[in-house]
Amino acid sequence: MKKTVLTGDRPTGRLHLGHYVGSIQNRIKLQDEADAAFYMIADVQALTDNAENPEKVRENVLEVALDNLACGLDPKKTTFFIQSQVPQIAELTVFFLNLVTVARLEQNPTVKAEMAQKGFVMSDSENTEIRKSLQYVVANEKIRNVPAGFLAYPISQSADILFCKGNIVPVGEDQKPVIEQCNEIVDTFNRLYGETFERVKHLVGDTPRLVGTDGNAKMSKSLGNCIYLSDSKDTIAQKVQSMYTDPNHIRVEDPGQVEGNVVFTYLDVFDTDKDGVAELKKQYQAGGLGDVVLKRRLTEVLEGMIAPIRARREELAKNPEAIMKILEAGTEQARRVGEQTMNEVRKALHIQYF
Ligand code: ATP
Ligand code: MG
Repeated sequence: MKKTVLTGDRPTGRLHLGHYVGSIQNRIKLQDEADAAFYMIADVQALTDNAENPEKVRENVLEVALDNLACGLDPKKTTFFIQSQVPQIAELTVFFLNLVTVARLEQNPTVKAEMAQKGFVMSDSENTEIRKSLQYVVANEKIRNVPAGFLAYPISQSADILFCKGNIVPVGEDQKPVIEQCNEIVDTFNRLYGETFERVKHLVGDTPRLVGTDGNAKMSKSLGNCIYLSDSKDTIAQKVQSMYTDPNHIRVEDPGQVEGNVVFTYLDVFDTDKDGVAELKKQYQAGGLGDVVLKRRLTEVLEGMIAPIRARREELAKNPEAIMKILEAGTEQARRVGEQTMNEVRKALHIQYF
């Protein structure tokens, strides 16, 4: 079986530690093992919830490319491309839209969570307000302001994966339901039109979901709780300084709580000296270890990891034209691959007329 890796980021901001442990580490590993690897900058998907802000999306195309290159994704092994510039993806999306019901999209846990996070579900009182201002509303129907494109993003994401016959997708845990949805599309398509696509495997990283610096369940660009792969040492120190530890650990000699303590959560993920961390936990629980010492250690660990990425990034950022050339060449390659797939798809759909 041919192994084709497809992965990507939304150009909505610079990339952070959550991306690194959730997906980027696997991307780098897989580019050596796979038969083909694609890295997509998902600007079309970013626009589904940033329609009023195209400039932000555009600016961040270069930023996410820089982050991935700085981490070690190699354009000689991985085809870098921009989603909007591959029309075959949009074409495939149109046909996939017919294979999924609106009800199924609304039940998708990723879509549900992100709709809430991005404010597309209104509280009951907001609902009532809007109801009053509208003449025609279906009784008991919740009024939401989710753009159709956003609701349907699992469908376009399936086209992102399948246009190049991707079958391995390194993603964070939050994306699992979207991959399930993709496999439903594969099954339906094959059943209706004949065997065309293979089922897709998602590959979650060692840390499937990194918590935010504020203790929120997910570090996310849109939540402002991130440590970025490009942060300076001072910024890292400041963000670590603001992290929650144990609110009852007031004096150094007080015994402290390790569970739910964000600083320990991060040390567990990023500190390679596991015995050292176990020793710190023991001291902290017994009392006698201050937050200052703990946070200084985490700052050192994160700086040690981020410093080389930051340095490579600064070097690469001096020549944006070279990055755009990489994206342009990769996009041309992605179009060629997409056209091959679309020829098969058009045949399967009986829409080859001329
Ligand atoms: P946005 O808020 O705009 O959706 P994001 O921070 O969620 O941004 P994405 O570009 O949507 O970032 O995600 C890119 C990839 O990184 C996806 O595979 C996603 O699952 C993964 N990822 C994002 N945040 C985390 C996290 N905190 N832990 C693990 N993986 C993550
Ligand atoms: Mg996201």
